[in-house]
Amino acid sequence: MDIVVRNAKLRGQKNTVDICIEKDRIVSVAPKAPGQGRQEIDAGGSLVLPGLFNLHHHTDKSLLGEVMRPNVSGTLPEAIEITNEFKRNYDPAEVARRTGRVVEAGIKNGTTFFRLFADVGTIGGLRGARGLLLAREKYNKYCDIQIVAFPQEGIVRDPGTAELLDEAMKEGCDVVGGLPWYEYTDAEAREHIDICFNIAKRHGRDIHMLVDDTDDENSRSLEYLALKTMREDFHGRVAASHCGAMAAYNDVYAAKIVDMVATAGVTISVNAHINLVCSARLDREPKRRGIARVKELLARGANVVSSQDDVNDPYYPFGKPDPMECALMIAHVAQLTLPHELEQAIDMITVNAARAARVTDYGIAPGKRADLVVVDAPSVHEALRLQPVRRHVIKNGREVARTVVTQQFITS
Ligand SMILES: [Zn+2]
Repeated sequence: MDIVVRNAKLRGQKNTVDICIEKDRIVSVAPKAPGQGRQEIDAGGSLVLPGLFNLHHHTDKSLLGEVMRPNVSGTLPEAIEITNEFKRNYDPAEVARRTGRVVEAGIKNGTTFFRLFADVGTIGGLRGARGLLLAREKYNKYCDIQIVAFPQEGIVRDPGTAELLDEAMKEGCDVVGGLPWYEYTDAEAREHIDICFNIAKRHGRDIHMLVDDTDDENSRSLEYLALKTMREDFHGRVAASHCGAMAAYNDVYAAKIVDMVATAGVTISVNAHINLVCSARLDREPKRRGIARVKELLARGANVVSSQDDVNDPYYPFGKPDPMECALMIAHVAQLTLPHELEQAIDMITVNAARAARVTDYGIAPGKRADLVVVDAPSVHEALRLQPVRRHVIKNGREVARTVVTQQFITS
């Protein structure tokens, strides 16, 4: 046995188990494993989760906060403006270095799968995407990385971008991005979505768009995206991030959209960190939260994930990045506080995200890929509450990160 993780507490189970790993696979999960592993890890009754996901993260912009001018208005338009100043001069090697720093931080927090977004458009060309491709090459033995070619300035309103997206897919990007709500009119938002589907079909790839990231109740591209997903038979292959306009929709229209999203199998990615600071900047009181209707989506059986989006960039000044924090954040914003709801929050950084990325060998069971995280807490509840360190992170059957912390209460 290459690795044996002993005394592991799995979700929903009372007693601990030993997890045996050979090469990149889990070979057994049983109360007591005989023999000795080449590496022995004692979880000591701690929660062990399968590798965590961060399904939406713009690492081409990450850490620009260290060098940029402040975003005075705190709004999306000013963030885009500041980013553009950098994008004109992006150097792929420099983008890869910043990406590497946040990917390493994410791995230490238990992330084994990243879906990274790279701006693709006429301002930065393919330089951001090439930076992420370089980073993927360097880090692909420590984690899985998918790269989304993302048209941050729109497609119809930024002529030349459709061709650049196509080129980005040829150069090795994995997922077709989109930003339909950013187009000038509803008709052009629909055209934007059509173009994305055409590129995705041409390259046999999935789609992950940023949709209706606005407080405008009339921003309705999610409706067309869900319809298009059904018509094109892309069930389970499309994700939509943000969708904050859902919070502004009237309840009758929102119910129709929730139903369409569930029927189409569109995954909704909530990005609570950024939307809590960026949305509703024009509201007086009460201020909206700009968050998709999570509880209604879950009740209807839609797939919902929670992800990071930003780390210290023109949009958002914080971010560790840590999927466990994303789970805690969505638990607050969507008011997930009951025991089964805490499990739903953890699903959003594990199984739901794996389903969205169509990873089929995911989980803690014999035959599954050996991606594991030993969380320094005995349960899901305590993991969310305490946000403890991840003691060990295993990717493809190899330990890739370890954290030891000593904390002491000193009596006098
Ligand atoms: Zn984003």
